[in-house]
Amino acid sequence: MMLDETSAPMTTSGGLARATQAPKISFVSLGCPKALVDSERIIGQLRAEGYELAKTHRGAAAVIVNTCGFLDSAKAESLAAIGAAAAENGKVIVTGCMGAEPTAILEKFPDLRWISGPQDFGSVMRAVHEAAPPPHDPFLDLLPPQGIKLTPRHYAYVKISEGCNNRCTFCIIPKLRGELVSREAADVLREAEKLVAGGVKELLIISQDTSAYGLDLQYAESSFRGHTVKAKFFDLARELGQFGVWVRLHYVYPYPHVDEVIELMAEGKILPYLDIPFQHASPRILHAMRRPGGAGKMLERISKWRAACPGLTLRSTFIVGFPGESEEDFALLLDWLQDAKIDRAGAFKYEPVAGAAANDLGLPPVAPEVAETRYKCLMEHCQKISARKLKEKTGKRMAVIVDHAGTRAGIGRTAGDAPEIDGKVHLVSRRPLRQGDIVTVKIERSDAYDLHGTAI
Ligand code: SF4
Repeated sequence: MMLDETSAPMTTSGGLARATQAPKISFVSLGCPKALVDSERIIGQLRAEGYELAKTHRGAAAVIVNTCGFLDSAKAESLAAIGAAAAENGKVIVTGCMGAEPTAILEKFPDLRWISGPQDFGSVMRAVHEAAPPPHDPFLDLLPPQGIKLTPRHYAYVKISEGCNNRCTFCIIPKLRGELVSREAADVLREAEKLVAGGVKELLIISQDTSAYGLDLQYAESSFRGHTVKAKFFDLARELGQFGVWVRLHYVYPYPHVDEVIELMAEGKILPYLDIPFQHASPRILHAMRRPGGAGKMLERISKWRAACPGLTLRSTFIVGFPGESEEDFALLLDWLQDAKIDRAGAFKYEPVAGAAANDLGLPPVAPEVAETRYKCLMEHCQKISARKLKEKTGKRMAVIVDHAGTRAGIGRTAGDAPEIDGKVHLVSRRPLRQGDIVTVKIERSDAYDLHGTAI
């Protein structure tokens, strides 16, 4: 995603005067929502110092590329973005996950202005200053109190921690982003408070491992609005639920204490939505992945969650073609998906990412064509489950947040749909709609992934 002042729906409502000759910086943001939050932070700093975002690389004072290094395909995309920036501009600053392992980048692009890993905001800004000094006027060029957002005005990602203490064998994120480092609870809550005051209606809570939140701080207490809050998954979720907006939990690792937040969902404090990447169901493969859980135990937990919170939506991701995955393992995964009735599923074909422990397990690789067939089979299987589950919603009245508003029609999402990754609700309305409105919609029909209905 290349960002500029017009394409990025940023909250720059300060409408403040800025220097006419403000240097322009071109920005490319790649990767997941966690990387997007890092991009927001850098762009926030650029704007605070008086820089503007350029529409094109050509003529910009520098180009910042926030890379993704999660999979080889993401690395290839990052290299292509750096290549385009180098060809069109030449003054390229690289940051983000792929920057943590600079050799591959520097071999191809030895003339970069700067390269650093994720969250090294200080060094990125120093490189920008070298390319073009800041026209900073702190009195004229203030940031809106809620900071700069790259998402639409009505929803925002809130990153509660960085890094991860787990060692899933297919993943190099802990190598790239380090061990778990959580923010104080009060710090997160102050950010959420500002976002809500700035018009945000939905908070999307992200991290590498949301349910591990606070472990590194030993669940330390901090003070918010005159009371103390523990840096703990349940406590933070409960406090976020007090803001009266939608709160959605992403990237939840299936620890036993996840069961506690289901109560908050049942009480309507946070959205009944869990994004919990199960990755597989075969105990053998989960063991090789160094992931918790076995098919049976997890099914028991899911059925308890659904009994406690009948409206719960489960989103998950799965990896097919992990080394050693047999036909039996894959069949077990399909059966498990059928039993678990996962509402929203995404899948990846296993990629032997350089540096991942899974490459050294001595397990036989799955042939690419077999992985491809399994991937298609899994997606078709999940599509049928999704279609069946959505059909059950026909005739119901559901709260829908409006993402795109027209005068008589719009596109929105239910509590069971996260932006970008889940389904949509296509709605018609007699009254004009506004982005961010939460309206009641009578669901009239469904297809494989989306719902259709009328606002009432
Ligand atoms: S939980 Fe596993 S997959 Fe997720 S970031 Fe940590 S090591 Fe990677």
